[in-house]
Order: sequence, then C-alpha cells, then structure tokens
Amino acid sequence: MTTALVAWQSSTDPDDNWEITFAPADAGEGERAPEFDPYAPGPVPASALLAAGWWMECSHCSRHVSADGPDDWGDEDGEDGDAPDPVCVGESVYCDSRCRDKEQAEQAARRARKAAMEADALKRWPGIEVLSVYDDSLEFRFLGQRWTTQWLAADPGHVSMPPADVPLWTAWKAR
Ligand SMILES: [Zn+2]
Repeated sequence: MTTALVAWQSSTDPDDNWEITFAPADAGEGERAPEFDPYAPGPVPASALLAAGWWMECSHCSRHVSADGPDDWGDEDGEDGDAPDPVCVGESVYCDSRCRDKEQAEQAARRARKAAMEADALKRWPGIEVLSVYDDSLEFRFLGQRWTTQWLAADPGHVSMPPADVPLWTAWKAR
C-alpha cells in the first residue's frame, strides 16, 4: 500500500523563502498546507501559490509578484502604472506577458547559441563526445580520454584538460 502524500510548508533560510514539500501525513516537516494537497507529489504550479497568497520572483526580472501583480509597479513600467495581471507558466511566474515574452526570447537565443557552439566543436574535432554545453563553454571527451576537456567559446583556439590527458589529445588529433 502506498501512503498518501500531503503538502507541508517550511522555511529554512534566513530570507524567509518558503517551500512546499510532499510527505506522508505523519512524517512531514514544518506546517501542514492542505490547500496544496491536490498537487501531490508536486510541484505546485505558480498559479496555485499566488492564489494562496504567496509572492514569487518574476522569472525574468526578479521583481516580487503576487496575485495582485508585481510590486512597486510605476508609470514607467507601463499599463499607466496599474499593476498588470501576472502570467503563470508551470512553476514560473512573470510580471506580465512582456516579461514572459522577453524571457522566452532570451531562452530561445541561448539555446540557439549553445547549439551553434556544439556544432562548431563537432566540426573542429569530429568524434568527440559532448558532455555538457554551458552558456559560454563546452565540456567534452575524446576517445580514450580519462578526464574531460573544457573549451571556451571566447577562446576557440584553445582547450584545457588535465596534464595526464595531453599526450592522448596530441595523439588523437594526429590520428
Ligand atoms: Zn518581470
């Protein structure tokens, strides 16, 4: 028999950031938060947190956003100074549709940049195994390498790896 999970809210950090966790009714930490029970085993969507009176940070500009809209909204922010309705996407909340659109555009650009970086690396060194692609760098392994190689997009002519792998790299490139 599986034990039903119920929602608990707790705050462990000094900034008073609260979080919801799901645990059995007799084994949770913090306070019970029955309003979130329907979302077991989690995560709780941002819209439900706002509806329950929580505030969250806008996933684009980090402004505090509650169900009433973003905090400190002024004339220069648009909507004639009236706080817009927040926009929830899954676990994320945005001040308004503009913050959502800007974030989605930035994420798409970041994905495109990373894909181009990976394609560039695979062209330079066919056969490498790309392990991770970060915003400005890439980590890969070539055949037989014991550790991993780092490559910075800002310095494309250069790779770094532990000294023990260097002779292998020289041999691999010359193969
Ligand atoms: Zn925002």
